[in-house]
Parts: sequence; C-alpha cells; structure tokens
Amino acid sequence: MPLDAVTTGLYNEIVSRNPAEPEFHQAVSEVLHSIQPALQRQPSLRDASLLQRLCEPERQVMFRIVWVDDNGTTHVNRGFRVGFSSALGPYKGGLRFHRSVNLGVVKFLAFEQIFKNALTGLGIGAGKGGSDFDPSGRSDGEIMRFCQAYMTELHRHIGPQTDIPAGDIGVGSREIGYLFGQYKRITNRFEAGTLTGKDLVIGGSLVRPEATGYGVVYFVEAMLAERGHSLEDKTVVVSGSGNVAQHAIAKLHQMGATVVACSDSSGFLHDPSGVRPDVLHEVKHVRRAKLDAYADLVPAARFVPGRSPWDIPCEIAVPAATQNELGEADAVALVKNGLIAVAEGANMPCTPKAVEVFDEAGIAFAPGKAANAGGVATSALEMQQNACRDRWSFSDTDKTLADTMRSIHNTCLITAANYEKPGDYVTGANISGFLTVASAMNALGLV
Ligand code: NDP
Repeated sequence: MPLDAVTTGLYNEIVSRNPAEPEFHQAVSEVLHSIQPALQRQPSLRDASLLQRLCEPERQVMFRIVWVDDNGTTHVNRGFRVGFSSALGPYKGGLRFHRSVNLGVVKFLAFEQIFKNALTGLGIGAGKGGSDFDPSGRSDGEIMRFCQAYMTELHRHIGPQTDIPAGDIGVGSREIGYLFGQYKRITNRFEAGTLTGKDLVIGGSLVRPEATGYGVVYFVEAMLAERGHSLEDKTVVVSGSGNVAQHAIAKLHQMGATVVACSDSSGFLHDPSGVRPDVLHEVKHVRRAKLDAYADLVPAARFVPGRSPWDIPCEIAVPAATQNELGEADAVALVKNGLIAVAEGANMPCTPKAVEVFDEAGIAFAPGKAANAGGVATSALEMQQNACRDRWSFSDTDKTLADTMRSIHNTCLITAANYEKPGDYVTGANISGFLTVASAMNALGLV
C-alpha cells in the first residue's frame, strides 16, 4: 500500500539523515508500507513522533578493534552494537562477523529484530551488532584473539538486563564461548544470561543451535497445512550451508522432503537424490571445508561455482544465506518451475522486486522476521534457564519452539485477515509486531 503524507515525509527524512545505508532504508520502507492499513484504522498511531522514535535507534556504538594475527601482523577492524528498541525488554539480537558488515547493515538487522522479537511474545527488545572482521581462513587462535579484543570494548554496553548478544553470520558457539570467556574475565562475574548461543557446558540451551533452521521448517509446515499440503515428498532448495541452512536441511529430511540444492558464497551444490545431512555435517564440521568438498564424497552431486541455486526446480524455497540474495529474475525462474512456498531463513534475503513476483503469482511467502524467529525465541528460553539455573530437555525445548512457530504463523494470518489482506504474512508480521511495540512505547511515555 502506498505511503501516506506523514510516512512519506518520515521516510524521506530517514533516507537523508542516514545516507549510504540502503539495507536500512529497504527494511524501513517495507515496514512503513505494510503498516499503512493499521495507521489508517487507528489514526493515533500516525503520530509522527511515535514513528520517528520507532525508526531511530536508541543507541549506536562503534569502536576500534585491534588484534594481532599468527604472523605478528596487527589488524584494525571496526566493531558495532546497535540497541534499536528496549520497549519490550533488554536489547536482544546477534553479532555478525563478515567483511560486508557496516553501520547500515547492522541497523537494518536491528530494525527487523524489533518486529521479530515482538512476534515471539517473549518480552525482548531489539539489537544487533558485529564487525567487518572476515573470519574465513583464520586460525582458532586468531578467532579467539579477535573475539577477546571485540569483547574488551563491548562488555561496557551489555549485560543480562541491558543487552544480550547471540550469534549470526560468522558467529557460532565457538565465538560465543570466546566472547563470554573474555566478558567473564573482565567483569569478574559468571553472568551466563549475558550471551546466548553458548555451548551447553557453559550454560547453553539444548535446541538453540538447531532452533532457527528447525523453526523455519515448523513455519513452512504450518503454511503448507493452510493450503492442504504437507512436507512429505516435497522438493526444496535451500541457500547457504551455515547454521540456519544445515538445521533446516536436517529437519526437512526428517519430515520427508528432499532438499536438492544448497549453497555457499562460492557457488551451489546440486544433489538430485537429496542433500545428506550427515555428509554436510562431515564437510562443514569435521573437515571444516567449503561446500564443494561434498561433491567429492557423493558422486551423484555436482558443485556449480559462481552461481546461486534458484534455477533448480523446487516446490519450496528457503533462502538462508544473506540479505538480497534472491532477486526478481530468480523469483521468476522459481515460479516458472512450480514453486508453491517461500520461507526466509535469512534476514531480508528476497529483494522487494522478488517479493512482488511471489505476491503476483499467489505464492505463500513468509518474511524472515516471522519464519526465522525460532532462533531468538530459543535464545529467550536460554535466558530463562540461565536466570533460574535450570536445564530443560531437548524434547520440551523443541516442543516449545514448535508451538512458538505455530503461534507466530497464526498471529500473522489472523492479523493479515483482520486488515483485509488474507494470507499475506508480510502484512500480518509487520502489523502485529508494530502494534505490540507501539503500545509498549505509548505505555512508557516519551523516552
Ligand atoms: P553462517 O555464518 O552459519 O552461514 C552463512 C551461510 O551463508 C554460509 O553458507 C555462507 O557461505 C553463506 N553466505 C554468507 N554471505 C554470503 C553471500 N554474500 N553470498 C552467498 N552466500 C553467503 O550464518 P547463519 O546460518 O547463522 O545465518 C544465515 C542467515 O540467517 C543470516 O541472514 C542471519 O542473519 C540469519 N539468521 C540467523 C540466525 C541464527 O540463529 N544463526 C537467527 C535468525 C536469522 P560461506 O561459508 O562461503 O561464507
């Protein structure tokens, strides 16, 4: 829906005050467009100051990170932590270590997190952070020293009641462990609830590593059920082969679907007989190799360098690598090849033009802020376990995750129908998240 005069003025101001941050502009634009029906129905929400505060981070921290590599060479990286909204609880969101990280990327991720975290219903605010540090090819010692240098500054800004970082691209349980170790050393406190995504032995939660990928699949299951389908015998293409992709592939496999392709930053893997989670695990975790090593182990598979997987025919697409990785031409190819549903495992992986193509073709489309919310929801369960020094079983935690994903799915559909957009998960997710955060902001007064 087109922007009204108030939101047009606000959007133009955001673009001019946050120059050279296209991903942030894109994320704000999508939300402002899709909340229009709510603004029209409840004019009090059109208060320019409310929307202005919603789109202005509460705080943005940028810092220098100095570390020394194995050859004795000194490196200087840039670190970021954006606390976007604490209206619903302490800032919560991951850290990304990737050469493409800049302030605009961190702001887009933190902004998306506001609505995602609101959808979980778990009382968590929104933040995100990271660094332009490139971990690829770095030794374990280098990763540890970088994490320690990063936390030497970050520790001033975080804590279990203030801001609780977790993982994202380039940050898994190993990095979280090194970050927590340094936090503990500097603060002299074993505050397990300061970081989530920890290894079990230092206060992590069962299911947290699997949660984002499993959660996406639970969401897809609910979307398909709505249309009278199931995952059994469906053909799926997943992009990426990191944390989210690997666990989505494993859960899809368990549920009877066949994942025929996945990818990494150097190309894609096509395995018509179905990507095997055990071989993927061997390649990524035992050999710590790139994805092309899979094709050396499975003769029926081929690795196609330099291309994305979207022209491989499938009924379900799960983009789970990075932002804007699936464009208009990819969407057209997917629709032509028999696509019925898309669920974003990554944050904002589909461009606005691609989403338009899916809409026009009547494809069920789940935005990342709904479909990948299982990770942060399970992080909140990790915080609960840390707070009461408890440990929940795998099956209980997994059941809570599955229930949460079904609840988010239903919230999106009910909200969309309520605003005359039946089946529109983007509208449902954005309006539902917005209404929750807006009412908390109003309750808190002008802060
Ligand atoms: P990982 O670092 O574990 O994996 C990232 C994967 O994406 C790798 O296969 C990587 O390939 C690939 N990739 C990264 N950048 C690019 C690029 N520019 N082009 C093509 N491929 C790329 O990250 P996660 O799996 O944790 O995160 C994936 C996505 O899911 C991100 O958008 C993240 O924000 C989102 N997400 C993650 C959550 C989590 O719990 N981890 C929670 C919610 C969302 P290579 O190895 O070659 O670099």
